Amino acid sequence: MKFRFTMQCPVCSNSQLLRLHRKWWMRLVPGTRYYRCSSCDLGIIVLLGLYITVKPAF
Ligand SMILES: [Zn+2]
Repeated sequence: MKFRFTMQCPVCSNSQLLRLHRKWWMRLVPGTRYYRCSSCDLGIIVLLGLYITVKPAF
């Protein structure tokens, strides 16, 4: 699922997102950012203003 990213968790609307270290493959794509919601643990990969949600990491 891809939508425009607004620095807010798409699931719980929490705006307290934690910036995480990027996975190795994200370095291949400049501008990629990786966040985790501090409330529901959703992973959020932001790419070119769009985001992809991933299952809680770790
Ligand atoms: Zn959330």
